[in-house]
This record gives sequence, C-alpha cells and structure tokens, in this order.
Amino acid sequence: MTGLEWLGTATFRLTIGELVVFLDAYMDRVPAAPPVGLRTAEVTRADFVLVGHSHFDHLAGAEVIAANTGAKIIGSNESCRVMRERGVPDGQLLPSAGGERHRLADGVTVRVFPSLHACTWVLTDSGCGEEEHGHTGLTQDERGAVPGGLVQRITELATGGTEEGRIILQHVQTSAGSLSDGGPLVYLIETPAGSIFYQDTSGCWTGVLANIPADAAILAASGRANVDGEPVQGSMAQFLTMEAKTLGATKVVLGHHDNWMPPVTREGFDIRPVKEEFVKYAPLASLIEARYLEPIVLFE
Ligand SMILES: [Zn+2]
Repeated sequence: MTGLEWLGTATFRLTIGELVVFLDAYMDRVPAAPPVGLRTAEVTRADFVLVGHSHFDHLAGAEVIAANTGAKIIGSNESCRVMRERGVPDGQLLPSAGGERHRLADGVTVRVFPSLHACTWVLTDSGCGEEEHGHTGLTQDERGAVPGGLVQRITELATGGTEEGRIILQHVQTSAGSLSDGGPLVYLIETPAGSIFYQDTSGCWTGVLANIPADAAILAASGRANVDGEPVQGSMAQFLTMEAKTLGATKVVLGHHDNWMPPVTREGFDIRPVKEEFVKYAPLASLIEARYLEPIVLFE
C-alpha cells in the first residue's frame, strides 16, 4: 500500500509498504498557524526526507527528523549545507542537483530533476481562478523593484513593531538557514505500484515536466506560478491543470495552499476553479482534497 498524509504547507509523509519518506519537513510553524497534528520532535520513524528547496518553510525540521530517526536527507547542495551546519553528518546527506537516481528501498527509487521557484517577487493576492498577466521579460534588478513581493511583505511585518511581527521575525530567524531557494528540485518516486511526482513550489520547466510520466502528482499551489522562468500568464488553476496534464497524472494532491504563516498568508484557498479546469482540460486527472494527517491511499 502507498499512503500519503498532508502535514501542512508543502510537507507530506509518504508510506510505501514499510518505507517512510517525508516530503519536506516543515511542521513546526508559528503559533498562529493551524496545528498540523504532528511536530518534528514526535516523528519516530523515517527513512528519507526529500527536500524540494532550501527556504525555511520546506527545509526547517529535517535536521530534527534526521537526528531522531537516522533518516537520510536528499536535497540541493544548499539544503545539505544548512543541514550540515545544524549537525547532520555527511553520511546522512545525499546532495543532488537533478539527474540523480537514488535507491530508497527494494524496488523503490527516486529520480531528481531541476525545477523553478514560484515568482515571489510579484506576489499575488488573487484567487486561484483569477487570471493574471504581465511582469514578463524583466531582469533580476527590475524584478527586485516590483513592489509587494513576499520578502518585502515579511520584512514590513517583522519590522513593524507589532507582537505578531516580533513572533514572525523570531520564527524566521531561528528556522531559516538559507536566504536562497538553493535551486528547487522536483522528485519522481518510482514504486512497483506506480510513480509519484513531488513538487513543493509553484514553478516548472515545461520541457522537464513533459518527460516525467507520473501516475500521481503532488503539486504546490502558492503565489504566482513560474513557467520556464516567467510568471504564468493566466491563473493558478490553469497552471496546475497544465502540470497535471503534462505529467499525465490521474491523481493530484495539492500542497502549500494553506494558511501556514498568518497574517503573511491567509485562509480560504478555493479549490473549485482547479476542479473546474481539470474537468475541462485534464479530464483524466482527479483532484484529491487533503486534510492534515488524514490518510490518502495513492496505490492499493
Ligand atoms: Zn520557497
């Protein structure tokens, strides 16, 4: 049996028979975020942690799981650098850049591919079904001058002198080991029963995606999506539908769409536009709505 549980943000626990794989490791969130029902200190079994990228809301906590369970961490060189700094021995780190295939258990492997981060420099407040256009063709310095990015929003809140800002500042300071995304990675876990694609930020190289055949896909639904290095010209729902269709996935689970760091994030992500787009443009894909710690059966 292959089972999946959502642990908030883009973190999941994947169980393939006896094998336990964490996808990201961020469960210890700010007190204002809804609890996911499990803290990293409570994790007693894990064989691997696959980390999508080095931002704290993905990587933080992997060192706790590694220390308590002996799990090996697969991630970018930057993610592994942070983990090394936090005391994880080299023997438990498998630095990857895309192109690797790691053995997870008998008959179970994971392939690593390069990917892209969502466009945090042009953070959106639009609903998942609302189309957005523009902001294309900008250089990095031009992107830095676009008002209202995620970093700007967090910085304003953290330096605003409020109690919630102080808590967020402290949380970011203790959780974040890297200011860089480290080069996002996506994973294809191949099992005898089927393959599972995992992505933890809303970006992709379409040419890479087109060559990944996945039966199930875990897709990140957060911010303004990144398609081949430019912000999506359309809606998040359209982006997710394009990804599901390109991968050929029949089962899709969303992540990163919850209220993981209020008030930077908000509750109320509307999944309906995704369902509607799937029906029209990716009819073979069915959307499975995850709830914290509620078991999902991917393959019998
Ligand atoms: Zn990130």
